[in-house]
Amino acid sequence: MTSLQELLDNNRLWAKKMEAARPGFFTRLLQQQAPQYLWIGCADSRVPANDLVDLAPGELFVHRNVANVVVHSDLNCLSVIQFATDVLQVKHIIVVGHSQCSGVIAALEDRRVGLADNWIRHVQDVRNRHAGWLDTVPAASRVNALCELNVVEQALNVCQTTVVQDAWQRGQELVVHGWVYGLQNGLLQDLAMTVSRLDDTGVAYEAALAAVHARYALAEPAP
Ligand SMILES: [Zn+2]
Repeated sequence: MTSLQELLDNNRLWAKKMEAARPGFFTRLLQQQAPQYLWIGCADSRVPANDLVDLAPGELFVHRNVANVVVHSDLNCLSVIQFATDVLQVKHIIVVGHSQCSGVIAALEDRRVGLADNWIRHVQDVRNRHAGWLDTVPAASRVNALCELNVVEQALNVCQTTVVQDAWQRGQELVVHGWVYGLQNGLLQDLAMTVSRLDDTGVAYEAALAAVHARYALAEPAP
């Protein structure tokens, strides 16, 4: 099969269903998109942004890459954040990681996957920053612990972009969040890395880290 006809057929059915359920849906969207949320998530096929939060086209602005990484010099991600913040005026930026993330596993275990190693290196920086604590986590829980730490660190990176800092400086309403999605149960969890102004960044970061530590300390077997 070379034409992917099945996908095109699916699309025709989907568009028909949408239009039947909400007449005029597509022509209304044509005028303007006004999403309230920017989702920065992993490219993993098991974590489809709109589906997980049951939002329709037009309601969620989305950026995805391997292991939901926000790098200070990544023009792609920064441009998405800038467009969402300045032009669309989204009210929330949500960094969403997920359990058992392949990028995080590769980072944790020094697995070579190819060119992407250079990208995953950013997750290794997170691993190295928290190496002392990660060593205390039972091996079976270490991947998910690093998935959560990675969310907290990448959400911190969002807070540290000039785009977000400038928005806060001019009094724009904008809240940064860190969530993790459980592949095993389909549930999103708020990691409490919630920041709505520059001065709150450090406190939120420390509280979110402490919460990750507490969660995985509880996972340790009794002595
Ligand atoms: Zn992933």
